[in-house]
Amino acid sequence: MKKLKFVIDKYFGYHLPIRQRFFNIIFICGFIVGLMGVLACISLKSSPEAITVAATMTIIMPLLGLLGITSKKKQDFILYLSLGVLNFLILPAMYLTGGGIDCGIPSYFTLGLALTLFLTKGTSGIILTVIEAIWYGLVYIISYRYPTILSVVPACETVEGTKTFTFNAISSNTLMVCFALGILSKIIFSMYRKEYNIVSNSIEEVKRNSLIDPLTNVYNRRHMYTYLEEQIKIAEENNSDLSLVIFDIDKFKNLNDTYGHLLGDEVLKALTRILKNSCREKEIVARYGGEEFILILPGSNHDDALKRANEIRECIEQSHLSPELPSDRPVTISGGISTFKSGLNDEQLVAVADENLYKAKETGRNRICG
Ligand code: GH3
Ligand code: MG
Ligand code: MG
Repeated sequence: MKKLKFVIDKYFGYHLPIRQRFFNIIFICGFIVGLMGVLACISLKSSPEAITVAATMTIIMPLLGLLGITSKKKQDFILYLSLGVLNFLILPAMYLTGGGIDCGIPSYFTLGLALTLFLTKGTSGIILTVIEAIWYGLVYIISYRYPTILSVVPACETVEGTKTFTFNAISSNTLMVCFALGILSKIIFSMYRKEYNIVSNSIEEVKRNSLIDPLTNVYNRRHMYTYLEEQIKIAEENNSDLSLVIFDIDKFKNLNDTYGHLLGDEVLKALTRILKNSCREKEIVARYGGEEFILILPGSNHDDALKRANEIRECIEQSHLSPELPSDRPVTISGGISTFKSGLNDEQLVAVADENLYKAKETGRNRICG
């Protein structure tokens, strides 16, 4: 069982390009299925025409597969050729020599069309699928309406026309097509699921990257404004509290100049971790600028915000944000608060906090104003 899994994975696994898998399928399975068809035709005493078609398929399909496997440059052409041979010649020939509609052979047309649609790319694939469908329609209509031009050879002479045979033939052929489609969807079409997953994961990643600041891993300014706008709407509608704090690191330029930018980055990351950890439900922290951060506090009035901002400021002052910083060199922050009042928009709310931050800087730093 393990060996079988190994072989299936080796020849039909995800690591192979989809075309390669198709060629492997028709090389390996084409011969087996064709041979089974020949034996079935012989045992059912089918017409010589049906045996010839099955024998031709036994040779042509594996040959096309081999051609595809060995060819490096013309795989596209060989793929279209294989689909053409299958849909324009082999399946219609099976239909005409295998008892036509009475034996349920048209169910194989579904298989041929699905293969073309899924294995070819873009408009050319869709056009080819449509042409094949028209071709099948023509073969069916002509053989039904004008049997003198295209006549269907009965599947087998002995039981021709009996209801039991018709029922068995239609159901077994339909079942075989369902089985083949099931296997194909596992081997070939599941590739699309994998590609879909890769694409949707990348979309998720791009979406995430467009919201998050890469250095500090907190929200960026754009998302901060989106969120603030939402919260303003909620506060306006529900008449609820909403506050905002801007924090700015004190004398950060001096820290960078003294200890280097790398250490400065480390301090930024450690500081944002503290800010993030202090967030409660619905509260967010965002990087507003270089060393400026905004904390949005839905549900907080002015006094709550002042209390929270001071707690954070004290916590940062007492934290040792980098082991490389001397212990007598604390990092401090200043903050400005603004509280929502009906009619204020997002930019006005940020501007008020900015003015208060300026006051905090003016009056000596390491403090919160508002
Ligand atoms: P103040 O107390 O008045 O805020 O002084 P300050 O030195 O913090 O203010 P200023 O705005 O003059 O300097 C901000 C500094 O922040 C300048 C810049 O080098 C630094 N900075 C901005 N972004 C980054 C960053 O991503 N990494 C590092 N290491 N430094 C940054
Ligand atoms: Mg600044
Ligand atoms: Mg600063």
